[in-house]
Amino acid sequence: MAASALRMLRQVSRSRAAVRLLCSHAHGCESAAGFPPLQSCSQEEAMMRDAVKKFSQERIAPLVSKMDENSAMDAEVISSLFEQGLMGIEIGTGYGGTGSTFFSSMLVIEELAKVDPSVAVLCDIQNTLINTLLADLGTEEQKERYLPRLANDTVGSFCLSEAESGSDAFSLKTKAEKQKDYYIINGSKMWISNAEHAGVFLVMANADTAAGYRGISCFIVDRETDGLHIGKKENKLGLRASSTCALNFDNVKVHEKNVLGKIGHGYKYAIGMLNGGRIGIAAQMLGLAQGCFDHTVTYTRQRVQFGKRIFDFQGMQHQIAHVATQLEAARLLTYNAARLKEAGRPFIKEACMAKYFTSEVATLTTSKCIEWMGGVGFTKDYPIEKYYRDCKIGTIYEGTTNIQLSTMAKLIDREFDS
Ligand SMILES: Cc1cc2nc3c(=O)[nH]c(=O)nc-3n(C[C@H](O)[C@H](O)[C@H](O)COP(=O)(O)OP(=O)(O)OC[C@H]3O[C@@H](n4cnc5c(N)ncnc54)[C@H](O)[C@@H]3O)c2cc1C
Repeated sequence: MAASALRMLRQVSRSRAAVRLLCSHAHGCESAAGFPPLQSCSQEEAMMRDAVKKFSQERIAPLVSKMDENSAMDAEVISSLFEQGLMGIEIGTGYGGTGSTFFSSMLVIEELAKVDPSVAVLCDIQNTLINTLLADLGTEEQKERYLPRLANDTVGSFCLSEAESGSDAFSLKTKAEKQKDYYIINGSKMWISNAEHAGVFLVMANADTAAGYRGISCFIVDRETDGLHIGKKENKLGLRASSTCALNFDNVKVHEKNVLGKIGHGYKYAIGMLNGGRIGIAAQMLGLAQGCFDHTVTYTRQRVQFGKRIFDFQGMQHQIAHVATQLEAARLLTYNAARLKEAGRPFIKEACMAKYFTSEVATLTTSKCIEWMGGVGFTKDYPIEKYYRDCKIGTIYEGTTNIQLSTMAKLIDREFDS
């Protein structure tokens, strides 16, 4: 059923002009002023969200607990993401992608994260970082070679962080030395998501160390390239089904045809992609928090103590209403940042706010949900403790909370200059 809905979506995507008319899925109409509410979405976006909701329930939910316990993503889940067109959401149909929008990607990530944030991050990195970098910067030859694979069967990894360079990402030490018409890459990367299954790696390495961060360049490295070694998976607190590995580059030879964009512009590309990527992490945290809240509120409406549903105690109701308000605010920040990006308007401050706020809201929500569930919330019989573990990463990757706050402050300072 979910597959057929997505096939329909692909057809709709091909005639996007026909579905540009906005319709509020929540209320069915635009406001009199002509501005639809922020949570409105197009027919195409609503179809995609509903199809992914169904797909997540039917195909992912039954595997979540086992994948978490085994710290391993089920191969079937990865292949079904490709099958559903969820790994190439914005890739054009001419390259075998779904031909949809950034906002649709956010809705997909949110829906997947409601069920499993590990699956959501696989989809998020592929769509917001890997596919976007290749689509925006690739030569026609690179696009023809990689985009159809990324849309249909190949996972990509984004390789920036190193053991000594995390928040200070551009102090990276991995080098790319030019020889004739190729580069030799030496060094190592750390914390690389999805590396266990990736077939292609976008690697930031310095091709001109004398120029400092202005030497950082982006290289497309195929998994089977000699000298590329993928280390063992980290044993993590949460997001356990998502592989996170170290990579070693030992004289890895990459033809100059595999330089993505311009030599020395890698730092700009990384900053640019991560600005958009942060909205994806906000969508992941939003979905995670909403998924946890939905499970828990359902429980509070069934569980009886002192002869009443625990939902009926005012002490519970006020807390639930407070968290619901935080979730609503998180959703509005996330959707607004996504719409700004899609409209080609400045969005960096709003993306940082969305990521910062949703990760705080996810922390609050999951912690409160465990309390509202009582003892069973603390066990693995319910999914709540997993959401609680999974949410912590939101304050760390694609820029820690402090880094988001510093970026916002820098932009606010600039606003007061003018
Ligand atoms: C599960 C997981 C998946 C990841 N996936 C990827 C991936 O796919 N690709 C990739 O390239 N990287 C990935 N990362 C790396 C991630 O982006 C970094 O961990 C993150 O940027 C923080 O870097 P760090 O761990 O070195 O922490 P540090 O930079 O050492 O930070 C430690 C603490 O110091 C604070 N701090 C640092 N500098 C400042 C400052 N200037 N002002 C105020 N506070 C500061 C931080 O906020 C943090 O609280 C992943 C990490 C994890 C844990």
